[in-house]
Amino acid sequence: MHFEPSEEQRLIEQAARQFAAEVLRPKAAERDQKSLFPEEELRKLGELGLLGVNVPEQYGGSQAGVVAYSLALSQIAQADASVSVAMAVTNMVAEVICAFGTEEQKQKYVPRLCSGDAVAGAFALSEPQSGSDAASLKTVAEKVDGGYRLTGSKQWITSGDRAGVIVVWARTDAGAPVDKRNQAAGLSAFLVEAGTPGLVAGRPEHKLGLKGSTTVPLTLDGCFVPDSARLSKEGDGFRIAMVALDGGRIGIASQAVGIGRAALLAAKDYSKERKQFDKALCDFQAIANMLADAGTQLDAAQLLALRAAFLKESGQPFSQKAAMAKLYASEAAGRICDMALQVHGGYGYTQEFPVERYLRDVRVSRIYEGTSEIQRVVIARSVLKEFSDHAS
Ligand SMILES: Cc1cc2nc3c(=O)[nH]c(=O)nc-3n(C[C@H](O)[C@H](O)[C@H](O)COP(=O)(O)OP(=O)(O)OC[C@H]3O[C@@H](n4cnc5c(N)ncnc54)[C@H](O)[C@@H]3O)c2cc1C
Repeated sequence: MHFEPSEEQRLIEQAARQFAAEVLRPKAAERDQKSLFPEEELRKLGELGLLGVNVPEQYGGSQAGVVAYSLALSQIAQADASVSVAMAVTNMVAEVICAFGTEEQKQKYVPRLCSGDAVAGAFALSEPQSGSDAASLKTVAEKVDGGYRLTGSKQWITSGDRAGVIVVWARTDAGAPVDKRNQAAGLSAFLVEAGTPGLVAGRPEHKLGLKGSTTVPLTLDGCFVPDSARLSKEGDGFRIAMVALDGGRIGIASQAVGIGRAALLAAKDYSKERKQFDKALCDFQAIANMLADAGTQLDAAQLLALRAAFLKESGQPFSQKAAMAKLYASEAAGRICDMALQVHGGYGYTQEFPVERYLRDVRVSRIYEGTSEIQRVVIARSVLKEFSDHAS
């Protein structure tokens, strides 16, 4: 394993850093305070090739790989976490269509996602009564002549009211006897276009953070989708969701790294400027130790994220490593943001400095795309298996 990014990876990261600094950072606080969705910014990300970093060129992507994607996403998140979550979900949807879609589906949707023409993609798995236990979801896809009718409710859908295309998971086994141990086998995934009759987005949630990103409930009231909208075969939905989430967790880890880095930089700068007892804060060992711990944890988080990205990119198993990266990076970034606020003292608790936004934005990275508790379930499963493999 090597630690030096390639020339291409460096260029992508550099493009993202420059865009983040020049376009995103100046208005990030305003987008947060006014809950402004970054529609124009997403289009520009598309123009720069940053909405499909790991998508093949033939479908409009940059084909620069998962490591480049991780580096770019961290840069965007460092400036504005709300933009980065829309970028991450759009990338995830484009990748999922590339991995499981027909040629027609790839041609139809992926270039629009990568260019920003579709503004964003959305991923509708969660429901009011099923979050961690995704396999128990209740939305039904009833087979009808020429397609399916989707009926049910989705909850917490990032960009669900803005997306051009939404991947919707639904049961194609409704009516069959319920087998609690094998509910996942009855799930299928569908590509539902914005504007489909019967698809209604509800009021955006008032969230603690990520205020520039919209998170909405969706109602599907007998939405008709043709057979050609089904992704892969009937019953393949759960596998598709798990594959997508494995990759998505690399995105959330990278996002957390970016927010954590923003917080550490803010703490470093403030600790050099602010004086108490005639000394800069950074000259107090207690403060310097906080920065040292944060720097170490941030490096560890990024290394875990990049390792998972490297494994995915090189076609190796990466599920457990992505869970580790997501778990560690989200929790470490949370501690780093909290530390940064502490270093700012009372000022950190106000909107005069960005650290309160970082702390609010980072919190959800321990919840979405699998909570920390669920990551531990995934990791424990592999650790227990590895341990028994060593013992035998
Ligand atoms: C801002 C935001 C954006 C989101 N975007 C999307 C999106 O675009 N698409 C989408 O489909 N979903 C999205 N989600 C939903 C998110 O993935 C879920 O919130 C998450 O999976 C947790 O589900 P839940 O909220 O129902 O919590 P629950 O599953 O009810 O969990 C509640 C608590 O119980 C714990 N718990 C549950 N099961 C176990 C277990 N087996 N072992 C130990 N602890 C357990 C959890 O860790 C958690 O602490 C988003 C959520 C938020 C807040």
